[in-house]
Amino acid sequence: MGSNMNDMKSLQETNLDEEGDQEFELEDVDDGDEEEEVEEYVTLGLVEKPKNPKFLLRHLFPSKAGGVPAWLDPVDLPQEKSRICGFCGEPLQFLLQIYAPISEESSTFHRILYVFMCPSMSCLLRDQHEQWKRREDNPCRSVKVFRCQLPRCNPFYSSEPPKHDGIDKPLTVGAALCSWCGTWKGEKVCSSCRRARYCSEKHQALHWKSGHRNQCRQIVNYSETSSSSPDSSSNRLPAVGKVACSTLWPEYEIIIEDECAFDTEAFEDNNCATSLVPKNMKTDDSYQFMLDKLEADEKKKTWASFQERIAKCPKQVLRYCRDPKAKPLWPLSIGCPSVANIPKCNYCNGPICYEFQIMPQLLFYFGVRNDPDSLDWGTIAVYTCSASCGSSISYKEEFAWVQLYPTAPMT
Ligand SMILES: [Zn+2]
Ligand SMILES: [Zn+2]
Ligand SMILES: [Zn+2]
Ligand SMILES: [Zn+2]
Repeated sequence: MGSNMNDMKSLQETNLDEEGDQEFELEDVDDGDEEEEVEEYVTLGLVEKPKNPKFLLRHLFPSKAGGVPAWLDPVDLPQEKSRICGFCGEPLQFLLQIYAPISEESSTFHRILYVFMCPSMSCLLRDQHEQWKRREDNPCRSVKVFRCQLPRCNPFYSSEPPKHDGIDKPLTVGAALCSWCGTWKGEKVCSSCRRARYCSEKHQALHWKSGHRNQCRQIVNYSETSSSSPDSSSNRLPAVGKVACSTLWPEYEIIIEDECAFDTEAFEDNNCATSLVPKNMKTDDSYQFMLDKLEADEKKKTWASFQERIAKCPKQVLRYCRDPKAKPLWPLSIGCPSVANIPKCNYCNGPICYEFQIMPQLLFYFGVRNDPDSLDWGTIAVYTCSASCGSSISYKEEFAWVQLYPTAPMT
């Protein structure tokens, strides 16, 4: 029982406990480090193949990557216009979700952040330009973040922690999902069988072409000839949790680790980390050269400190730190947002602040190839409402900033 509760609250207890944070900062100072800044206490996310996919169902409040989302509010899912790519119009693909409750408020007893993106690199390149636009100008995005939160007592889940005994169940059945992607609400129903459901016409067309044409006829025939109850024909549809499309990213559980647990290993790896920085600079005495060099040094410094920090645990796919002072670890000094580029909360108009970032290592685990037109990013930083405000909308859209690697090699 006790350990189950710990699992459920791992992010909350390690990150959001005020005293814990202070202890860590004090420790850093006492060590007499000659580092100029006190580093924030960061929690890392690593991926692991789930021992049992059932451990990633919504009533167990999982942090997971790939596959389909485990919707916290299973009924009031995101609306059609927020679930498509702003450029190609395709429904977005589920990237990951993290369980990040905030214990100080009862309204955020359960809290999950969801990240979706279009798998097309050309959409992400266009997204790069749009993210600089002001939110009022309604920029198109190919990366979207949703925040959902619930109090301990809610209509969907028991107020007691799950027992992880295989008998746990949510209190209610959720909305029917798309038969193709298994991700979004299936608002459209197949007009012949009236069983298959879709989030979009695109997914209906894909399902039809890839086999529903035959399956649909079978369902119709079966319900016409069979004297049994209409319910039994639903057995012919894919089982719950099975999804018809095969292009979802592979499913992983996200495991939480403290970054400081990797500190000793990082010390030994320091040298190889900095060797990635180009060393040879050609000399020239023009003033312009000095300016370029200063800029290049800034780039090198950013890249070197990024590499050094990542080398502590190269498998990390996620860095989490919900602290007002926390900042993302940028791989590049160019293309970072200024304060003015970070919008206000869509719902309460209050400030939003950095909460976590997604590392490109995730693409390796997703088996995304390293081709020029394959999906790639330097980091995706997620900013959320600092008050984690409530509103009648269950899935509140938060803000993502994507930093891409430049296409030309760095100098
Ligand atoms: Zn797209
Ligand atoms: Zn769909
Ligand atoms: Zn059908
Ligand atoms: Zn807000």
